[in-house]
Amino acid sequence: MRHIKIKTLIVTIFTLGAIILMSGTTSFSNDLFTANCGEVSAETSETSLTKPLLTAKLTKTGLKLSWTKVENADEYKIYRSNKKNGKYKKIAEVTSDTLSFSDKDYKGERKTYYYRIKSVTKFGKGINHIYSNTIKKTVYKRKSKVHGVTYINGILIANKTYKLPKTYNPGTNSKAYKAFKKMQSAAYKDGLNLFIASGYRSYSYQKYLYNSYKARDGKEKADTYSARAGHSEHQTGLAFDINDPSSSFDNTKEAKWLAKNCTKYGFIIRYQKSKEKITGYKYESWHIRYLGKSLAKKVTKSGKCLEEYLGITSKYKQR
Ligand SMILES: [Zn+2]
Repeated sequence: MRHIKIKTLIVTIFTLGAIILMSGTTSFSNDLFTANCGEVSAETSETSLTKPLLTAKLTKTGLKLSWTKVENADEYKIYRSNKKNGKYKKIAEVTSDTLSFSDKDYKGERKTYYYRIKSVTKFGKGINHIYSNTIKKTVYKRKSKVHGVTYINGILIANKTYKLPKTYNPGTNSKAYKAFKKMQSAAYKDGLNLFIASGYRSYSYQKYLYNSYKARDGKEKADTYSARAGHSEHQTGLAFDINDPSSSFDNTKEAKWLAKNCTKYGFIIRYQKSKEKITGYKYESWHIRYLGKSLAKKVTKSGKCLEEYLGITSKYKQR
């Protein structure tokens, strides 16, 4: 008797479950049907209007976005994101007559952004939205100053012309350090040992260093190889002296390897042999500056030193 009861119960549960499942399926397929209908109607109305074609150009004042007109559009909304598939934030709304917008809302370091726009067309109680293509752009200003730190074309600059504030003490840049570690492993595989002899240096430590060189060699000579406080690239946390910061490093296997390979890891040999008058420093085979892979490649390929590449000087205001 007991056995039969359990069996009946199982059958009942099974049947109920099946009914629930079936009703679930029914409502699900209804949803699907509605969704399909919606999609189809949206597609039909979209194809009757052309997608706005977005283009972008970096100008002196900002990134100029321009697009093609969408017929009967009431307005355009401009969106920006720092990841292609990330969250897009609306940065502006313009009327339908305006087919361009300048994004000036960035300063300091170079940034890569993704842009797209949306046309908005109102008809009766409905609204039609059409998104443009997405554009990837690296944006920067010709010159900007953030908390006293100068950026030229979005690149942090410390040289004889551009001084860093006393209070700027970022420590070693983590991206630069990671890049160095990668480079170090690669060199190790080639049987060479690279290490950082001197990395980040604070304003006050640089002051101490420069003053001791000045006391030893005199101001004029010290200025050819040591930076005055606030003018050292080491204070940026983006520069490293490798192995042996002296001319005896020049002809070593390590120096040759560094000159040949550092660009691949995002570094440049900052003070080159024939560029003394432009950089303001004598040749330093051991001093590397982190710029990131793509920029380091561009600068190295140009054959120019960073000052030439950016069209800037490196000269003290006071002799
Ligand atoms: Zn150095």
